[in-house]
Amino acid sequence: MKQRKCQGCKQTKDADLMYKITREHISGKIFLNPNSKILGRSAYVCKNKDCIKQMLKKKALRNALKTSELSEIEQELFKYCY
Ligand SMILES: [Zn+2]
Repeated sequence: MKQRKCQGCKQTKDADLMYKITREHISGKIFLNPNSKILGRSAYVCKNKDCIKQMLKKKALRNALKTSELSEIEQELFKYCY
């Protein structure tokens, strides 16, 4: 099984248990990418609010995707957690 590091807890887990978030190579836009249809740099986070909160607090998603812009995905995840 594919193992990926969570950007919240930083533990390595089964990728099927995580959200995949990808910054599209061409547009630079950031998407949830459950079926890996979007090509680009990707980051993973466990499907729980604690991990998502940690990821947002540490700006770990932006660091992992090498962007400094606050994305719509982050705003959506923030709304989901708080
Ligand atoms: Zn996690």
